Amino acid sequence: MLKIGCHLSSSAGYLAMGMDAEKIGADTFAFFTRNPRGGSAKQINEADVARFLELAGKLSISPLVAHSPYTLNPCSAKPELRDFAKRTMRDDLERMEFTPGNFYNFHPGSHTGQGEETGLVQCAEMLNEILPFSGTTTVLIETMAGKGSEIGKSFKQIAKIISMVEMKEKVGVCLDTCHIWDGGYDIVGNLDGVLTDFDKTIGLSKLCAVHLNDSLNPCGARKDRHAKIGEGQIGKEALFRVINHEALCKLPFILETPQDSLAGYAAEIAMLREAYKH
Ligand code: FE
Ligand code: FE
Ligand code: ZN
Repeated sequence: MLKIGCHLSSSAGYLAMGMDAEKIGADTFAFFTRNPRGGSAKQINEADVARFLELAGKLSISPLVAHSPYTLNPCSAKPELRDFAKRTMRDDLERMEFTPGNFYNFHPGSHTGQGEETGLVQCAEMLNEILPFSGTTTVLIETMAGKGSEIGKSFKQIAKIISMVEMKEKVGVCLDTCHIWDGGYDIVGNLDGVLTDFDKTIGLSKLCAVHLNDSLNPCGARKDRHAKIGEGQIGKEALFRVINHEALCKLPFILETPQDSLAGYAAEIAMLREAYKH
């Protein structure tokens, strides 16, 4: 069975997300652990989490792929911003223990002029400080499009970060199809080659989740503008090959397409389930 879902709003709590997932036919989903722009997190309501876990168990909704606020920058040139990223992620990981055994995905950051090498080192340093507090959660580094001074735009850079991490068993990778396409990986013409490259550089055993998005821009554009499935330059057929590829087909797929309603996601999920051949 295809594991698929989308980003859901966490503003009404966990049970509400579980009910939204059920409504749209999702059996996995992503959510922001707090306001995506950072800021303080809401107190977790244990009764709400308990009701959610019961529903998720009944419907086999798993795993959760939580997303850190995208404004956190673990490799900012400003030490106070690096420190803020670290403290926020550590707090998020403590909160993740209310829903144990899931994924927490983050953007490796932008080096803001310090250079890629420094960025990679600072990202690994942050991971080394927070992973001892990650409990049962696996922390996922997201592949990035490489806009501005973003690090993590190549498999090599991500492998480099992981090579400097002490608790390697606690980190994985989340592959974003829009981002790698924008980063120059031709998943339309050569999906096998891209995945072989991933395997040789990082190792497919590290790949834990996929963000399934089309892209408004051509391969290598480094823009990071998501499109609905089939309405971008990657296209429906190539994304159908992604969900059906033997190296990927068992992973959770999260849609981050620009839909303005849950009904839009429900339709995309139904279309992808229809295209799933396993
Ligand atoms: Fe992301
Ligand atoms: Fe993403
Ligand atoms: Zn993106």
